[in-house]
Order: sequence, then structure tokens, then C-alpha cells
Amino acid sequence: MHDPATDTIAALATPSGRGGIGVIRLSGERAPAIARQILDDLPAPRHAALCWFHDLERAPLDRGIALYFPGPHSYTGESVIELQAHGGPMVLAALLETALALGARLAEPGEFTRRAYLNGKMDLAQAEAVIDLINSATQTAARAAARTLHGDFSNDIHQLVDALNKLRVHVEAAIDFPDEEIDFLSDPLIEQRLADVTARLAALQRRAGRGQRLRDGMTIVIAGCPNAGKSSLLNRLAGHDAAIVTDRPGTTRDVLREDIELDGLPLRIVDTAGLRDSDDPIEAEGVRRARLALDNADLVLHVVDVTDAATDDVQLPDIPVVVVRNKIDLAHGTPLRAAHAGADEVIDLSALTGEGVGALIELLKRRAGYEADAEGNVIARRRHLDALARAAEHVHRGTRELKAHAAGEIMAEELRLAQQCLGEITGQVTSDRLLGDIFSNFCIGK
Ligand code: GDP
Repeated sequence: MHDPATDTIAALATPSGRGGIGVIRLSGERAPAIARQILDDLPAPRHAALCWFHDLERAPLDRGIALYFPGPHSYTGESVIELQAHGGPMVLAALLETALALGARLAEPGEFTRRAYLNGKMDLAQAEAVIDLINSATQTAARAAARTLHGDFSNDIHQLVDALNKLRVHVEAAIDFPDEEIDFLSDPLIEQRLADVTARLAALQRRAGRGQRLRDGMTIVIAGCPNAGKSSLLNRLAGHDAAIVTDRPGTTRDVLREDIELDGLPLRIVDTAGLRDSDDPIEAEGVRRARLALDNADLVLHVVDVTDAATDDVQLPDIPVVVVRNKIDLAHGTPLRAAHAGADEVIDLSALTGEGVGALIELLKRRAGYEADAEGNVIARRRHLDALARAAEHVHRGTRELKAHAAGEIMAEELRLAQQCLGEITGQVTSDRLLGDIFSNFCIGK
């Protein structure tokens, strides 16, 4: 019987278009049999073989390298064949069609990696890192994705799960002696393990938070009156050792949003000046995207003109505000305008001369918790942060119950729930829907 989860899949693994080589990949039980028909013979396992590729009528299509990885020692854990042909769209299409005619089916997006995950070749965080590595917009993000793919982030999760487990076993053992008066709090080992778990969890949340900002960037809103110098500041930031990133997949450039990079830290800057109702569908779409970005913003830069006494009133979401007092080059001797109430920090600068802009850049990097390719940057996603936050909440609740009511059973249960949340990150606990969401964002052939 044909089973979509295990039937043999095939796809072009290299980008479409012309190139030196193009790779067709097959995975599944029938891959060796299909390869035998396309080639003259099946290559020796894991040895590169130079051979002719044929169509169904045995007419030569191309000559290239064939590789055979018998399961389970392959990317997917199944038998895998890779055919490296010349990278021409017609050659590759003919080769792929031949493989399909011989009984393979076209792979869905991410299906090779999905099988690798389902066959235990990598966990879910690592599978996600594959696509994050491919989609990295900066070198720093790519290196961080490689570390997650290597398992650094997953190892942290496993260690935390171990620590939670030890604590839970200890608490459960104490519950099992109901006759004795149990004083959980006076047990130094529980106290110590609890402190350990809490500290590990907080450290991992910080690490994952940095990883998520590396992946998705930090969203910054520039707000302020017309002529305060918002565009000048944006240009300054974009020009300072920074590349303007224009080729993000799936997004069009619009005037309200700019993606820039500061030493490898992606920043998405949203200019609220453009937020107005519009009848023009393209502008309306831009406004819709800017508002979406606003909802997820991390920081507001409120630009004020130090030479202008007028106060401005900007409606901003409830996020940290840094006041940027611009045009300090004009403010010689004149008293600078007082800082805005509610500001977390104030920076004086001149977008015109560049004075003070370095301090702003340092502030932004500090706010992102960013260190340029610091040892230990991993890549992470919002989904992971969310799971970590829920795990922390369970530990917190359990601790409260333990301390207030010596409620060991509740503590043990909360610890179990925390472990479950962490299992969602590595994929020990998962659902078809989640897997569908994750792998549908892959490219075909990966
Ligand atoms: P926006 O409307 O807030 O985007 O402001 P702009 O960036 O367009 O700047 C408004 C005017 O202020 C322009 O003429 C800029 O050249 C000028 N400007 C911006 N920043 C500075 C600054 O730091 N010093 C001085 N002297 N002029 C500035």
C-alpha cells in the first residue's frame, strides 16, 4: 500500500535556474531501484560514481556524479540517492521526470527534513535551524543557526529537562512518606535544585531571546514631529557601517519600513509618520504592514528637535521609549529641551553631523542583548520563547505553592508541565499542525 509518509520522494535540491551543477535528490525505499534504472548500476554506498544518467528509453540525458546513502545512514534516515547533473533547467527537468515516471513522487516543501526529524536524525529545533541557516540574512545569524543545527540550543534544553526531572523525582520521593512531617523548605537539596533550575531557565530565556532577535531582528519605531529629523536619523543608521537589506523573501520594500543591519544585528525600522489612512491599495497595504510591525515593536525612538520648543503628542504602543534629542549641533549655548516624561533613556545627537549616533547604535545593540558573534549565539524562534515562558510560569507557580503551602504534589505536577513545554521545543511533544506550519515554510528539495 502506498503511504504518503514513507513513499519515495524526489525533488530538485538546488535552486532552479542555470548553474554549474544541479542536484536531484531521492529518498525512500524505492530510491535504489529507481537509481538502478537511471544509471547502469547502483554506486557503492557513500562513494562518488561518475556515470551516465538515462531516460526511460535508455537514451542518455547527462553524465554526472551519483551518490548512494543506504538508510538509515543518510540525511532523511531512509535510502537516499543524489544525482549531480549539469545545472541546466531542461536536463534537470528530464531527470526529475524520469525519476517520477519510475515511481517516485514529487516531494513537498521541507519533506526531506521532516523525514529526517521523524526518523530521529535531528530534533525539531535543529530541523528549524536548517531553514533558518538557508534563510539567514546576516553572517551572524547564519553562524548562530549553525550552532542550533549543531545541537547547542537543544543541549541546553536537555540539560534543563534533566535538572527539572531530578528536582521532580526528589519532590515526589518526599511526598511518598506521608507519615513523616515533611518540611520541603528545610531540605537544602530541594532548595539548591530549585535555585539551579530557576537560574538555568532564566539564562536560557535570555539566550533564546537574543537568538530570536538575531533571526527576526529588532523592530524599532521612529516617531516624532515632522522635521524633527526622523528620515535623517534613519539614513544615518542605515549608512553607518550598515547594509540596507532589500532582498528579504516575501516582503516588498515600502516607504514605511526599512530593514537595516548593524554589525550583523538586523533591525526593522518603522516610520510612524507614514501611518495614515489611504485609498491607494499599495499604500494601504504598507500601512497595514507597518501597524503589524508596530504591534511587535521592541523599542520606540522618539525623535525631538532640541531647537523646537513645541511639544508633540504621539500615540505609541506600550513599549520602551528612548528619546532622541536631535540637532544638538544647533543647540550651542541654548538650553536643551527637557526630556520627555516616560522616557527610559535619553540620547543627544545630530543626525546631520553624526555626533552621538555611535552612542545610539551602542544603545540599540545593548537593548537587543547583542554581542557580535559572541561564542554561544544560537538561533531561536518566537515559538521557543513562548514555550520557555510557559515553562518558567509553571516553575514559578510550583515554587509558590511549595513555599506557601508545602504543596509537594502541585509542585511535582507543575514541574511535569514545565518539562512538557520544553519538549515542544525539541519536538518530543508535538502536533501535526505544528509540523505542518514549520515545514511548509521550507523550500521544495530541502
Ligand atoms: P523628518 O520630517 O522628521 O523625517 O525630518 P528630516 O529628516 O526630513 O529633517 C528635517 C530637516 O531638519 C531637514 O532639513 C534636515 O536636513 C534637518 N536636520 C535633520 N537632522 C538635523 C541635525 O541633526 N542638525 C541639523 N542642523 N539639521 C538637521
